Amino acid sequence: MQRYFGRIIDKQVILDEGDQFHLVKVMRVRTGDQVEVVCEGKLFLCTVSSVKPLRISATAQIKENNELKNDVVLIASLLKGDKLDLVIQKATELGVEEIVLLQSERSIAKIRNLDRDFKLERFNRIVKEAAEQSKRTRLPLLYRIIRMNELPEIKADVKLMAYEGRQGSTSSFLSAVKTIKSGQRVAILIGPEGGFSDDEVNEAMEYGYQTVSLGRRILRAETASFYALSVLAAHLERK
Ligand code: SAM
Repeated sequence: MQRYFGRIIDKQVILDEGDQFHLVKVMRVRTGDQVEVVCEGKLFLCTVSSVKPLRISATAQIKENNELKNDVVLIASLLKGDKLDLVIQKATELGVEEIVLLQSERSIAKIRNLDRDFKLERFNRIVKEAAEQSKRTRLPLLYRIIRMNELPEIKADVKLMAYEGRQGSTSSFLSAVKTIKSGQRVAILIGPEGGFSDDEVNEAMEYGYQTVSLGRRILRAETASFYALSVLAAHLERK
């Protein structure tokens, strides 16, 4: 069943124009069809009472929670091309609560101020589609593009920096994950194609980040995000 993120006022469902178009023109919805709508973290079963004009009413709340037990924020360095789109899509599927974009020293991609709003709007469309597809009941936040010196603004109880250097002095990601306690917010920091500079590593450590290894192999930045979030989700959802 199709899921949308929308608003529900007096049991009447309000979807954005894109979703209305999708429902009527792509899904060719008919009167009596049912859809799921998430409103403010709650999931509702809704019925299409008319197509022209489109009217949808909430009929029942569904108890469902597909969210991770811990809040996870991915701090992802800007990446070239559509790699960042993929990171944002997979991070959403893997349950993050927030995605923060980092303009790091060696990020090849740059987001200039005049592109900022346009890019954030496009990234949030990717988040919304991935959240609907993966049956999330919460839309991850994506509104911040920061520099390393703004890292302290990202509140977290456990701060992990994926770093492939100094192999000897970094613990494994999984052993760090195993120390996470219930209710703790976890931040995972992933570098750009060119990696973090030594200054960035030292600066992040001053802000309380622990460097962790994602294994013996050097992963692409996008792979590193997928790997870290998969291991974390698997650990948090183990039976
Ligand atoms: N130093 C890398 C190289 O020689 O190609 C460049 C950085 S790597 C492509 C991109 C990012 O992925 C790194 O900044 C780091 O955050 C993460 N990463 C990749 N492999 C890793 C590993 N084995 N352990 C920890 N982090 C890793």
